[in-house]
Amino acid sequence: MTQPTRIFTDVDYEQDGKQVGWLYLPYSVTRSAYGNISIPVACIKNGKGPTVLFTAGTHGDEYEGQIALCKLVRSLQPGDIRGRVIIVTAANLPAAMAGTRVSPLDEGNLARVFPGDPDGTPTRAIAHYIDTVLFPKVDFYHDLHAGGSSLDYVPFASMRKSGNPELDARAMAALRAFAPPIGLVWAHSLDSGLSIGAAIGAAIRRGIVTLGGEFGGGGGVSITGVRVVERGIRNLLVHAGCMAPDGKSKEEPAQTRLMEVRGQDYFVLAPDAGLFEPFVELSENVQAGQPCGQIHFVDNPAREPVPTAFRASGMVVCKRRFGRVERGDCVAHLATDWKG
Ligand SMILES: [Zn+2]
Repeated sequence: MTQPTRIFTDVDYEQDGKQVGWLYLPYSVTRSAYGNISIPVACIKNGKGPTVLFTAGTHGDEYEGQIALCKLVRSLQPGDIRGRVIIVTAANLPAAMAGTRVSPLDEGNLARVFPGDPDGTPTRAIAHYIDTVLFPKVDFYHDLHAGGSSLDYVPFASMRKSGNPELDARAMAALRAFAPPIGLVWAHSLDSGLSIGAAIGAAIRRGIVTLGGEFGGGGGVSITGVRVVERGIRNLLVHAGCMAPDGKSKEEPAQTRLMEVRGQDYFVLAPDAGLFEPFVELSENVQAGQPCGQIHFVDNPAREPVPTAFRASGMVVCKRRFGRVERGDCVAHLATDWKG
C-alpha cells in the first residue's frame, strides 16, 4: 500500500476547463509555522482523451523548458485540446527559485530520488507526488532538461531505452513527432540510466511514453533551445491526440537527425583536479584517440599539463562549462548517428 502524499492542491484534475494553481507541500520554518512550499501546476482539460504531462525545473538551473512551459500555461486554452494537459513549470521549486541544480533546502536532486518518500525531505516528497499522484493519470510524459550550470549541450530531445520494445517504439514515434533538430537515444548514460531515481525512469516503469531532452545549458538560456521546446511540445500534443495540427508545424518540416549514446566510452572524465583547457567545441566531430583537452596546475605552473583524449569517435554534444575540474568530472561526451 502506497503511503499517501502530504501535498494538497486547489487544482481538480478531473474538472474541465483551465486551472492554474499550486501544489502545497507543508514546510514549517521559523518565519512560517504553518508554511507551505507552493509549486505551480496547471491543468487544462477538455473532455475525454489522452493526458500529457510536462515538467521543467526538475533541475532549477535549466531554463529553456521552464520558459517554454510558462508560455504554454498562459497560451493553452481548453478549446485548443481534447483530453488533458498537466504542466509543472518548476517541479523542484526551491531549486528553480535559487537557480541551482539541487534544492537549497535539502541538497535534493529531483532526478535522483524517485520514487521519493511522502514523509521525506521536500525533494523526496515532490518526487513521491509526481510518481503516485500524477503518473497514474498520464499517457505521455516529457521532462524538459538542459545541461545546468556545469554543462553546455547541443539542444536535443531524447528517449531512453527501456528494455520494452513496444514502449521503446512508442517513445521513438513520439520523439520523431516532437521533431527536434537532434533526437537522441540514451542506450547508456553515465549514471546507469533507469535505476538511479530519475523521473523519466519512474515514468517508464509505469508504462508511460516518456521523453526527455537537454535544450541548452551553462546556466543560461538558449534561444534555439526555447524555440525547439516551444515547437516540439505542440508537435507532441498533436502526436498524442490532444491537439489538431495547426499548420504551423507544417511550415518547418521535421529534419531530425537521430543520434545515440551507446556506451561509457562516449564520456570523457577529468583525470586530475585543476584547470581544464578544452581543445574542441560543441558540434565538432572527433576521432577516438583525439585529444579532448588538458589540465593545468596553476599552483604549480612548471608541472606538465595532464592530457585527456576521446575514447570513441562521434560528435561532441556536451561540454563542461566551468574551467575548474575535480578528478572524475565529465568534461565532454559524444553522440553518434543512431543505428536502430
Ligand atoms: Zn537536468
